[in-house]
Amino acid sequence: MKTHYQAYLELPAPRAQVADLLNNPTLWFDLPGGWEVSGTFWRHGEDLYRVDVRANGTEESLHWEASPATGQGSRASLSVTLYDAIISTHLELKIEVDSPGLAWPWRQWQISNAIRKRVEICRESLETVLRRQQTSVSVPMMATAGAGAIEDEDADDEPLLFASNATPAQAALIAKLRERYPQTVAHFLAMGAIDHLERVSRLEVGWGQIMRDAYDPQVHQVIAAGAQPAELGGVAFGEGSSIPKTAHFDLIYAGGGLGLLHAAVMAMCYGRRVMVFDRSEVGCAHREWNISRAELALLVETGVVSWDELDAVVMREYRDGLVRFHSWSHSDVPSTDLWLPEVLNVALDAGALLRLMRRKLEQAGGTILNGRIFRTVRAHTDSAQGVEVELLGPDGAAERYHARLLLDGMGSTSPLALLRHAGRPFAGVCPTVGTVARGFVQGDGPQEYDPTLGDILVSICDSQDGEQMMWEGFPGRGDELTVYFFYYSAIHRNSSREYSMFDLFEQYFTLLPTYKRAGPDFHHVKPVYGYIPARHSLRPVEAPLLRGVLPVGDSAAQQSPLTFCGFGSHVRNLSRTTGLLDYALRHNLLDPQQLAPINAFQSNVSLNWIFSRFMEPWNHADDVNRLQNIFMRVLHDMGVAKATRFFQDRMRWIDYHPMLLGMLWYNPGILLAAWKVLGVKGITQWMGDYVRFSQSAAIAALARVAGQSGEQALVSSAERFAPALGLRLRARYAEWRAMGWM
Ligand SMILES: Cc1cc2nc3c(=O)[nH]c(=O)nc-3n(C[C@H](O)[C@H](O)[C@H](O)COP(=O)(O)OP(=O)(O)OC[C@H]3O[C@@H](n4cnc5c(N)ncnc54)[C@H](O)[C@@H]3O)c2cc1C
Repeated sequence: MKTHYQAYLELPAPRAQVADLLNNPTLWFDLPGGWEVSGTFWRHGEDLYRVDVRANGTEESLHWEASPATGQGSRASLSVTLYDAIISTHLELKIEVDSPGLAWPWRQWQISNAIRKRVEICRESLETVLRRQQTSVSVPMMATAGAGAIEDEDADDEPLLFASNATPAQAALIAKLRERYPQTVAHFLAMGAIDHLERVSRLEVGWGQIMRDAYDPQVHQVIAAGAQPAELGGVAFGEGSSIPKTAHFDLIYAGGGLGLLHAAVMAMCYGRRVMVFDRSEVGCAHREWNISRAELALLVETGVVSWDELDAVVMREYRDGLVRFHSWSHSDVPSTDLWLPEVLNVALDAGALLRLMRRKLEQAGGTILNGRIFRTVRAHTDSAQGVEVELLGPDGAAERYHARLLLDGMGSTSPLALLRHAGRPFAGVCPTVGTVARGFVQGDGPQEYDPTLGDILVSICDSQDGEQMMWEGFPGRGDELTVYFFYYSAIHRNSSREYSMFDLFEQYFTLLPTYKRAGPDFHHVKPVYGYIPARHSLRPVEAPLLRGVLPVGDSAAQQSPLTFCGFGSHVRNLSRTTGLLDYALRHNLLDPQQLAPINAFQSNVSLNWIFSRFMEPWNHADDVNRLQNIFMRVLHDMGVAKATRFFQDRMRWIDYHPMLLGMLWYNPGILLAAWKVLGVKGITQWMGDYVRFSQSAAIAALARVAGQSGEQALVSSAERFAPALGLRLRARYAEWRAMGWM
């Protein structure tokens, strides 16, 4: 009876190291398997085996044959083919066991199951050995660096050479990092981006706190009715800055990123008195954004900016966008490219856009404060009395300001978001690093730079270091290419994962040559990075809002957990969130439950959580690529319009079912994978999402039948007699519009 077993696995080390380990005969006796050497034989339990080891000499494939010394009993053969994934190695494993007796399916299943368990145990042991070997090597990745990597010949002098203008704190950080992250430090120094090393380090610390469930309960306090600010101690309003002590704002924005766009609309289009502060500079971007023209049109529709003004901000618009997943040569699922001409095909200069918004805000009388760190917000129980916001000024002195509401735009590590979600604000994360770089080889090959083409979502290898690494690349000004390198991960409670940005940067610099080829003048211009958070929202508001505080941007994290387009989601929902906020201010609807409908939640986006779960390998190194290639085929069959809607978070109810049925048709095994990946909890969540999505679609269909006159009548009478209900109704219509359903 012959039993065949096949697996495709990953080991976390370069191929030569894995081959060395597998070629080492003593290894087998260390692996959990119960083998012992007995003279020239191998003993397993009572049985003696003769083992014949063959390697083809190129470190690409290895073969073992075990036959019983007596000539009677089971024989087994094991072949391993090694595939180079640069920072790791993939193993194609084929095992054949020839045992005496009849080929009963049940018996074969038992043998196959036993092999599967043994293989998994051996894989874990090999992984442990390889990781141990790596930690004992001081400079692990330099040897594998390809084109574009900086030579480290004078490593000892190099910090002095590049970092002569570094502060003592920066020099200490460089010294601490350079041994473990030699390429990252070298490239950052060459880019003149020492300050970014500090920022990345700060970001890692912030994220580390999130992973430890840490939060500061003092950042938000509630003031009982009748208490005066003076009773709370500290300084008076506006003190410590040039703002008059009488200054009183409608809205204070903490964080000058996406919050600045919101603030500019509130000031310019709704005449609100607005202040924006940031711990560094208001409107300073550390990344580039891409978006589509249709989504940009929604920004123009708010009235805050014209197309002419945006032209100066658009770096490039390209003819097509590509979604492609790797398919290895022996895969049973071929790669299916998806070409989407209207998805993320406009590259923006994020810094220029934010500077433009800053000018707009100032022209509309808004106040901008740089170098202010948020300390605490005190909200009155009577929401009509507003909030007091305490900041730490540039000189270290406390400053206090008053407003009707604080908008939390402090991003993914916002202290207020951490408090609101008791230290666990997100369900998933997409750690992202990359650079803006110039001088790639131009051409239309997959590894070449084509200025008319954007890579929306591309994988070029199976899992690496346990993650399915993804690439995004979009051309900017001149021959610049912005390259992002990232992976998806669900955040599990009690997990010890670190999500190190520096580890990811080191992998990025090692693997970049496998994505695009560097030309002779290649160089990195600036680093781009961040943790893009994801929340799996079943409801518009997962946790009650903090009194007096409304989150915007990444601190609200309501973008798609698949595309992670936080900027796109913010823009698409900007007229919705600003219009609803103005309504709430006009009607004094500032209690947390009244403000709750003001958000960028989309019931069709919450379904993307399930899609994003299949972007993490669950069993084999090629899990993600195999499944996504099937999904790409389904989307391809459905046509560009529906695929575009899916990637722009405008999926309709009728789009969803062909996707599910298509997946089942091409791959019935998806049910088993879904069970493994989602478990009972995940499947229950998905059912909740689906019910909400269907409810929303049904009510939207009725609303479409009622038409604009029905909407007008409903919304205006609610506004007159029950303004809070009016806000909820408006919010529903606005959500449907954002999803393209109205
Ligand atoms: C590498 C990368 C590429 C991306 N590309 C795209 C894209 O192409 N398209 C797209 O749609 N989206 C993209 N995104 C997502 C998008 O960039 C984010 O959703 C967006 O930048 C979030 O903006 P934010 O203002 O909410 O948060 P942040 O950008 O994190 O800004 C938060 C601000 O708050 C300030 N702050 C924080 N804490 C404090 C404090 N205690 N006191 C005072 N100020 C504070 C910070 O200084 C910062 O200015 C990308 C994200 C990353 C990381």
